[in-house]
Amino acid sequence: MSLMDIKERINRAETKANRPKGDVTLIAVSKVQSNARVEAILSEGHRVFGENKVQEAAGKWPAFRETYNDVDLHLIGPLQTNKARQAMTLAQAIHTLDRPKLATTIARIAQEIGSCPDLFIQVNTGEEPQKAGVLPSDADTFIKDAIALDLPIKGLMCIPPAEEEPSLHFALLAKIAGRNGLAGLSMGMSGDFESAIALGATHVRVGSAIFGDRVYD
Ligand SMILES: *Cc1c(COP(=O)(O)O)cnc(C)c1O
Repeated sequence: MSLMDIKERINRAETKANRPKGDVTLIAVSKVQSNARVEAILSEGHRVFGENKVQEAAGKWPAFRETYNDVDLHLIGPLQTNKARQAMTLAQAIHTLDRPKLATTIARIAQEIGSCPDLFIQVNTGEEPQKAGVLPSDADTFIKDAIALDLPIKGLMCIPPAEEEPSLHFALLAKIAGRNGLAGLSMGMSGDFESAIALGATHVRVGSAIFGDRVYD
């Protein structure tokens, strides 16, 4: 699908949900994609991108930014504490705050450098042992603690279990965000972004539907 097609589908989903056009931010997930494919999307005017590895993002985006200085980069993959500083200087948003140690590390670095990317707290809505994120039952406390650290918490993020109905997870995430007064909802990928928008997504993370399949070597 082209970028235009995806944007049209997002607009239709916004309208259907009685939301204004442009309410939803499309994060084009460019992990593993070739520079040529990324360049093509940049040249169409899109500026919001997502990467899941700090290393890969650091190797790729500084060069693109020499030409496109208004790139808005979102980190959407698990973040090691020892990569927090690099992540914070590279990205405008981090979607995967998921543990106290990372929260205090980010808070300390933010004090030091005088800025902090927008933060989303990842919630493991499916309670999958192998998946990152705070458990739904721990979310309220974790959110309050993170806000108490003066961190710019914009909202919550989830990756539903592959084999379950994603809507249940989107609804749960929206409920947790709502009762904690958080407006941002990072949810929805290539296969389910329309239902995420119906349930209030403010940020959808779409990779393969824009760029084509990821080819790992
Ligand atoms: C890769 C990835 C996406 C995009 O997945 P697609 O199915 O290609 O749209 C979204 N979110 C996260 C966290 C990812 O790692």
